Amino acid sequence: MWCLRATMEHMPELPEVQTIVSQLAPALRGARIESVHIEREDVIREGRRSLATQCRGRKVEQVSREGKRLWFRLNGPGRNDYAALVIHLGMSGRLTLDARDTPLLPHTHLRIRFEGNAHELRFRDPRRFGGVWYVPQPTDGKTCASKNSTAARTAPGLAPLGPDALTIRADCLREITRRRRQIKAVLLDQRIISGLGNIYCDEALYRAGIHPVTPASQLTDMQVRRLADCIRATLRSAVAAGGSTLRDYRDASGAEGWFQVNHRVYGREGQPCRDCGAIIQRSLIAGRSTHTCPNCQTATKAKPTRKRAVRS
Ligand SMILES: [Zn+2]
Repeated sequence: MWCLRATMEHMPELPEVQTIVSQLAPALRGARIESVHIEREDVIREGRRSLATQCRGRKVEQVSREGKRLWFRLNGPGRNDYAALVIHLGMSGRLTLDARDTPLLPHTHLRIRFEGNAHELRFRDPRRFGGVWYVPQPTDGKTCASKNSTAARTAPGLAPLGPDALTIRADCLREITRRRRQIKAVLLDQRIISGLGNIYCDEALYRAGIHPVTPASQLTDMQVRRLADCIRATLRSAVAAGGSTLRDYRDASGAEGWFQVNHRVYGREGQPCRDCGAIIQRSLIAGRSTHTCPNCQTATKAKPTRKRAVRS
């Protein structure tokens, strides 16, 4: 694995969250909550007072992902009664299943115990950009008018999410890219399309041969189709590799992801492009450190507006 630059920003994105969901779901599905222990109240963004009492006795019916959020659907106590716990990992959040008697690591903010289970779910988040929401009656929502888009659930205190990047279709992507903002800024906006962060945004744009400063509305239909394909393919490969580990991310078992070895541009500044040999560049685009190949990615019909060198 390559050496990590301390300046590199990275938060868990869709593949990392999906990996954690895939590990937690079989372990927790059907488990009944025995108790909830809040070690630090301000990480509870919604339902701070009621979370512990309301969750007790409920059964985990489903563990799923929505954008970069984890959803625990909780059933009971009544037949049609259900609630949800939503967890966002922020920059440095981790969710692990640990034996109850394991000493707590610093920055463990929440623990959930399950009946008859020697392990407990622990949420750690040193930088505290993440959070936990208790949602009494989650409702389904739809944030993209396209028929093919995935409906995103909404809840009080949770910002609405755009259609999921893992299943984004070309017609939906065309619909949401009818705006003049730079394509990278559009792809990073969770309200427009959910799940992409800095890494997979750069990787998908590179694979599609599109420069991140290109105004979204100026992409041709063919480019949009290719971009939708590349977003799905990049995310699927990353999910299969268990995500990317650069600094903080670990999966629910504490293991690292491996997709970083497949990165074509992200984190490869100064190294040759794997396709053409040109030197990968890093610049600031849409407020984020952005990696591009100057040869493989061209900005069509538009001049870079906010591109400048990043001091290291
Ligand atoms: Zn290249």
